[in-house]
Amino acid sequence: MSNQSLKAFRAAFLDFVADPFYQPEAESVRYIPDGLMVLENGKVKELGTYDALKERYPDIPVMAYPGQLIMPGFIDTHIHFPQTGMIAAYGEQLLEWLSQYVFPTERKFKDKAYAQEVASVFLDELLKNGTTTALVFAAVFPESAEAFFEAADRRNLRMIAGKVMMDRNAPDFLVDTPESSYQDTRALIEKWHKKGRLLYAVTPRFAPTSSQEQLRLAGKLLQEYPDVYLHTHISENPNEVAWVKELFPECNGYLDTYDQAGLVKERSVFAHGIHLTDAEFQRLSEAQAAIAFCPTSNLFLGSGLFKIEQAKSVEYPVKVGLGTDVGAGTSFSLLQTANEAYKVAQLRRQKLSPFQALFLATLGGAKALCLEETIGNFDPGKEADFIVLDRRSTPLMAFRNPDPIPESLEELADQAFSLIIMGDDRAVKATYIMGELAYDRG
Ligand SMILES: [Zn+2]
Repeated sequence: MSNQSLKAFRAAFLDFVADPFYQPEAESVRYIPDGLMVLENGKVKELGTYDALKERYPDIPVMAYPGQLIMPGFIDTHIHFPQTGMIAAYGEQLLEWLSQYVFPTERKFKDKAYAQEVASVFLDELLKNGTTTALVFAAVFPESAEAFFEAADRRNLRMIAGKVMMDRNAPDFLVDTPESSYQDTRALIEKWHKKGRLLYAVTPRFAPTSSQEQLRLAGKLLQEYPDVYLHTHISENPNEVAWVKELFPECNGYLDTYDQAGLVKERSVFAHGIHLTDAEFQRLSEAQAAIAFCPTSNLFLGSGLFKIEQAKSVEYPVKVGLGTDVGAGTSFSLLQTANEAYKVAQLRRQKLSPFQALFLATLGGAKALCLEETIGNFDPGKEADFIVLDRRSTPLMAFRNPDPIPESLEELADQAFSLIIMGDDRAVKATYIMGELAYDRG
């Protein structure tokens, strides 16, 4: 084979080969202080120490990032692209926040040109923050999903998205019908699912804004297209949970409103899950469904503290990824999201180690999205979406984290923790998509 399709990166490498919630960190963390990652056609061919690999690839171009840390791109398992411009909306909790801020904002996304403009800003922001894959809500209008998919496709990004389905308890200008949502979603799946790197998620906003008939048709879509996703919200706020009880008296709790429609399965991702019952955690575990833990949003809207230790229990393990949930979330940065996840755990007298948090942001997110065969770490054959992290991106971080790069896992854990607590978009020096530079901090 000619070496022309090969290239390599030299830096320190950090990724995960197992789940540090269940395996010792020495077995789940892969750390190579002076590593070489060889890529072929945008995919990982080999990762090893520089010394071991340099002689086997004498002639290939090597991009070196001395003193920097290369990690897999971050994975955001729950975010709303139409809410990019209304981040940081003051004063309300979930239901009032939706009607006061979100619904008027999402109305604008019927205009495709506007949706295109916001999709572009949104994707720039993701890449700048080191996020290379996200599970994304569009608005109710098919045009909004079209605009997003077009923008993501142009950048060759692995993105999952869907048009919102909502047929009640929302303003007239924002509702579809069960039949129109079914037909529109079907057309979008046919057009975009598996086009390039794109994937589709059937996306009812949440149980209160969907009739039973609409949820039933969402389930029908999942049957007709077994490898599309289901993406929605669950048990975020106590008033919301009480409202769902009123709206669905025949259901046995919030999750059951989805379960009765056939929406609880592998490839189903439920954002929040703060007020889930033990039985609901157990059901999610059995169904191999996932939860998107969105700490900045949960704190911002005063929704509550997610029970990470229950989701990651040995008896009923539930797949968990991190979600920014912008615009209720307050940052596009998965580092800042991990920061708040750590504090949520602290308030519950739990610990979230830096490696556990970074696992959630990478391989854990990939597992939550059933994409662990494709992205999430640097195993051979994975798509080479990765980021270059700067441990010394501000004067204070440079003071705290002296050169050179740590040799030991213990020292690395300490510096990785500082990246989580102090780092943000400034800590992302570069973002690569399929081995190609997509963002450079300069
Ligand atoms: Zn959300």
